[in-house]
Amino acid sequence: MTALRKQLVLVGNGMAGVRALEHLLKLAPEAYEITIFGAEPYPNYNRIMLSSVLAGGTSLDEIVINDLEWYRSFNIKLYTGHTVTAIDTKERKVHTDKGITAHYDELILATGSNPFMLPLPGAEKEGVIAFRDIKDTQIMQEVSQKYSKAVVIGGGLLGLEAARGLLHLGMEVSVVHIHDYIMERQLDEAAAVMLRKELEAQGMKFLLKKQSEAILGKKRVKGLLFADGETAEADLIVMAVGIKPNVELARTSGIAVNRGILVNDYMETNLPGIYAVGECAEHRGIAYGLVAPLYEQGAVLAKRLAGVPTEGYAGSVTSTKLKVSGVDVFSAGQFTEMDGTKSLRYQDETEGVYKKLVIRDEKLVGAVLFGDTSDGAELFSLIKKGENIKGREKELLLGISPDALASPKGNRLEGMPDDEIICGCNGVTKGTIAEAITSGGCTSVGQIKACTKASASCGGCKPLVEGLLQLYAGEAAVTVKEGICGCTTLGRDEIVAEIKRMKLMTVKEVMNVLNWSHEEGCAKCRPSLNYYLGMLWPAEYVDENESRFTNERYHANIQKDGTYSVVPRIYGGVTSPAELIKIAEVAVKFDVPLVKFTGGQRLDLLGVKKEDLPKMWEELDMPSGHAYGKTLRTVKTCVGSTYCRFGTQDAIGMGIRLEQAFERLNAPGKVKLAVSGCPRNCAEATIKDFGVVAIDGGWELHIGGNGGINVRATDLLCVVKTDDEVMEWASAFLQYYRENAGWNERTAQWVERVGLDSIKQALESREERLALQERIRHTLSLTTDPWKQIVNTPELRKNFEPILSPETV
Ligand SMILES: Cc1cc2nc3c(=O)[nH]c(=O)nc-3n(C[C@H](O)[C@H](O)[C@H](O)COP(=O)(O)OP(=O)(O)OC[C@H]3O[C@@H](n4cnc5c(N)ncnc54)[C@H](O)[C@@H]3O)c2cc1C
Ligand code: SF4
Repeated sequence: MTALRKQLVLVGNGMAGVRALEHLLKLAPEAYEITIFGAEPYPNYNRIMLSSVLAGGTSLDEIVINDLEWYRSFNIKLYTGHTVTAIDTKERKVHTDKGITAHYDELILATGSNPFMLPLPGAEKEGVIAFRDIKDTQIMQEVSQKYSKAVVIGGGLLGLEAARGLLHLGMEVSVVHIHDYIMERQLDEAAAVMLRKELEAQGMKFLLKKQSEAILGKKRVKGLLFADGETAEADLIVMAVGIKPNVELARTSGIAVNRGILVNDYMETNLPGIYAVGECAEHRGIAYGLVAPLYEQGAVLAKRLAGVPTEGYAGSVTSTKLKVSGVDVFSAGQFTEMDGTKSLRYQDETEGVYKKLVIRDEKLVGAVLFGDTSDGAELFSLIKKGENIKGREKELLLGISPDALASPKGNRLEGMPDDEIICGCNGVTKGTIAEAITSGGCTSVGQIKACTKASASCGGCKPLVEGLLQLYAGEAAVTVKEGICGCTTLGRDEIVAEIKRMKLMTVKEVMNVLNWSHEEGCAKCRPSLNYYLGMLWPAEYVDENESRFTNERYHANIQKDGTYSVVPRIYGGVTSPAELIKIAEVAVKFDVPLVKFTGGQRLDLLGVKKEDLPKMWEELDMPSGHAYGKTLRTVKTCVGSTYCRFGTQDAIGMGIRLEQAFERLNAPGKVKLAVSGCPRNCAEATIKDFGVVAIDGGWELHIGGNGGINVRATDLLCVVKTDDEVMEWASAFLQYYRENAGWNERTAQWVERVGLDSIKQALESREERLALQERIRHTLSLTTDPWKQIVNTPELRKNFEPILSPETV
């Protein structure tokens, strides 16, 4: 059977290509043996959501669309971090930069776009980047920790989302734009001015009608020079001036290209067996830059490859939504007036609402909404259908509420055909959503999202999904509440209570007994349940490795090039010459490209290959520093009274004691501690989860601090006299946090949510503190060092071995 399968190779592990495969696997799961080459070192992720990652609402783990398990489950050979450098179209082979060659019967090119970088003098300087991928997002996050001034060139959708993210990261941000108003490709001037004012109120600065001339600075960028001689200071410049289809591979392999790779209505290039899909493809003169059309292309291509009849792809009308919190902007179709068009406008400056509809021949051809975009998806649907709207113009302008949508009278949602797309980003039709509600039992937007992916990307269709929910679920929709994820309506406390009450012991059991809507759960609930079960049943529960993220599974942090970093535990940041020599020898032996001191006073050996990890740990013979995962990371200390003339207490001794007590602690979020020997606070204890600051005759204990993206100073929990009391309170606080916070909730968020007083109250009684201390001790007594465990267990070591003949990740 397998021998008969044709070889299908996908170049580009991005949104469009993998989406096409998802369709294909549904239509013809057995037709092909599939190999994917992706230049980025990650599984397929939602690029759209990078804006949310930058703006702080989402973690990188959460934007993964298909995790590695998905590829395995379809026997897909995935080569991450491999760039295809050549296609031998005669021999039907592709070659990668890492020396892999793969034969294909059918080849899909889905190489996406490259950001357009203005060829300004100085553009090669450090600190000049684009906003396209995870790497760019991480650079912005890192730069914001060290520098303060950012300039974004480009006042379009991407530029504004980058600028909003940088503002959130605490930088001063100026947006430079060549036109006299922003987002001119999506908005008219009135809406653009309202948008600019709103963004200015959020702290963004605008430099309009400015032509960039040169980038200033020596090695690193210092500023931007404009054609009018003025300058703007900048430690970081983000260029967001457009994208160009990535066609180099196709061009050099003899495939016909213009701006993009030329394709017909079936996504076929000029060469037999070679297709292109996504931003790299040019169809009827258009290379699209938004996912909705790319997903439509993917569906057509999948049918073609599966041998299912299709009418082909006929092009798309596009709509856009700005993903900036506090600002609602929507634009679709032909939004500027032209000969033969009429427009209707509504503007309310007091409420900050602007609406404009453009009509031609009694049909809606374009719309701009600012301030209230709830009707965006509905208007977009009318534009696409080309329906006659005569007599309904004013109603459409003044608003369609979800209530009105669900009302029996004039219910457009009800009359909408089943194959009408509701979620453009993920290509989800009305029929699919209706079925998820009526047959799948979904009763909340969250459940629909988990079940169908509708509203999982830009969120622009949420009002329509809500309207459909009201239409099909009626009463049930009203009473429903959001659970920890779309698989359940139960919240964290209810789940924990049920696990305790019914003595549930495995993730599977919880899902079965508590009626999970998805048998396998999702990337949110699986790790949460794994944590809650481990917290409640420390002795009985067997940790589910597959419910953990990559870093936790490999006990090392994966880096952007696919290698790992190794951080051994160095208690309290205190090491010795002998230990340093050992670390140095291991670094030399394993050819470690970079050795770095971390912010938590540890040594980080970066650039380690996965297969070398167990051997390195063996040679180091040191415990894991747990620089990954939701656990105790480090206890930072100052020299304290041991050497410092200001020190009043032994900060080093206290820090080492705390670290030895709590290492390997499994917690809802990562936990960082610090101990300072006097109120000068050189160890920065007041931005840690638990901070200890020495005072004359005792210690101040602080909780709920955070030094990351959302900086939060700690709250003072109490003042104690002895070291033993520090241990007692630290134990009680950490265990109380373990038992009461939601998974993935850092102490800073938790303290804010439940309030300092409630925590003080819970820890007030000594009896209760001692009981909590006993529970944390018991839990910790059952833990072992993961590195040692792997080193000594041949079965576990096998997970790190390279897979030789062709690698299936
Ligand atoms: C920050 C941001 C926000 C966005 N917001 C929105 C939005 O709100 N709505 C919307 O509709 N769109 C949005 N987009 C655009 C959307 O993400 C893209 O349209 C979509 O990702 C394009 O999909 P693709 O598969 O064609 O390309 P990509 O997702 O870029 O995938 C192409 C992949 O191919 C890889 N590749 C390239 N060449 C090779 C090679 N030779 N060998 C191996 N691999 C290769 C690349 O590394 C890349 O991983 C946004 C984009 C960004 C960057
Ligand atoms: S915090 Fe106080 S004791 Fe510690 S190093 Fe600074 S000044 Fe010295």
